[in-house]
Amino acid sequence: MANVLIGDAAISLPALFAALPVAVVLIGRDGRILAANPATAALQKGPPEAMLGRQVAHIHPEATRNMARDLWFAEAGLEVPDHETTFGDRQYQVSVRPVRDDKGEVAAFVVAFTDISRLKRAERRLSEANRRLKARVWEDHLTGIPSRRYLDAALTREIRRARRAVQTLSIVMADIDRFKSYNDRYGHPAGDDCLRMVAQAASVALGRGEDELCRYGGEEFVAILPGTDLAGAAGVAERMRRAVAALTIAHQDVPSGHVTISLGVASLPVADHGSHRDRDALISAADAALYAAKAAGRDRVARAGQDDRN
Ligand code: GH3
Ligand code: MG
Ligand code: MG
Repeated sequence: MANVLIGDAAISLPALFAALPVAVVLIGRDGRILAANPATAALQKGPPEAMLGRQVAHIHPEATRNMARDLWFAEAGLEVPDHETTFGDRQYQVSVRPVRDDKGEVAAFVVAFTDISRLKRAERRLSEANRRLKARVWEDHLTGIPSRRYLDAALTREIRRARRAVQTLSIVMADIDRFKSYNDRYGHPAGDDCLRMVAQAASVALGRGEDELCRYGGEEFVAILPGTDLAGAAGVAERMRRAVAALTIAHQDVPSGHVTISLGVASLPVADHGSHRDRDALISAADAALYAAKAAGRDRVARAGQDDRN
């Protein structure tokens, strides 16, 4: 057997081929397997000799199509691009290089298979973590309802939709009464539990599928009510108020003795849809109404006068 000199060591080509740490197969132009090194045992769960003389198409169903494509690249004088394939439950990167005869014709292909299963698993885990992270941006981690970021995007979208459909859009801003003293008296973890329960009860009080309750920040929530006028929104706000009161979460620092919310309602009337500042104006109007509800004694709903928005 012919030896090649590598440094000062004389090594036979079959010995070198056998020692390659990746699975390597030599395939004739006609698709017959001419040689397979010991590392190929992992591909077909058998000794390399079992592959010799067989057609690649019998080893892997995609082989015929892949070989035709690789031959096209090689004969066009282009580098054959790598591709990926699976054998059983493992994934491989496949690198193919043409072997040319004296005339420069493609006589065979040398094909190397690198096991990339671990890399692929890590890739899948990473993209799954990424997907979950993206989803989390839209969700408030404490209460599980849509986040402030979601609210900003949804409100912009709903204002546009209201404009197109020539409909009134309303929002309700809700704020827990004397929540600072609730935290002071019962502790922050109890405060967090209270926030979750209030978010849940207020969400359930919304009547229509397109209504959405979002956490605005701290102990403040905003409900978006598409296609709802000011009177209708005030009715929904009153239902939210009652739903929270019905939880009867003890709170000694408010007159009723249990947790209550105050609510401000505002609408974007049909005629006014047009300003790019609609979103801020709507929030400010609801906030002003909420302030009025607080000033009037809390645990109640106040409506924004349609002129209050400016
Ligand atoms: P008001 O009736 O006027 O609304 O009084 P308030 O005490 O509710 O209002 P203030 O805005 O002064 O206090 C809000 C408090 O809400 C401050 C903080 O103690 C509490 N808070 C805000 N975010 C959270 C939270 O994520 N978890 C808990 N436990 N408390 C929070
Ligand atoms: Mg507040
Ligand atoms: Mg408050």
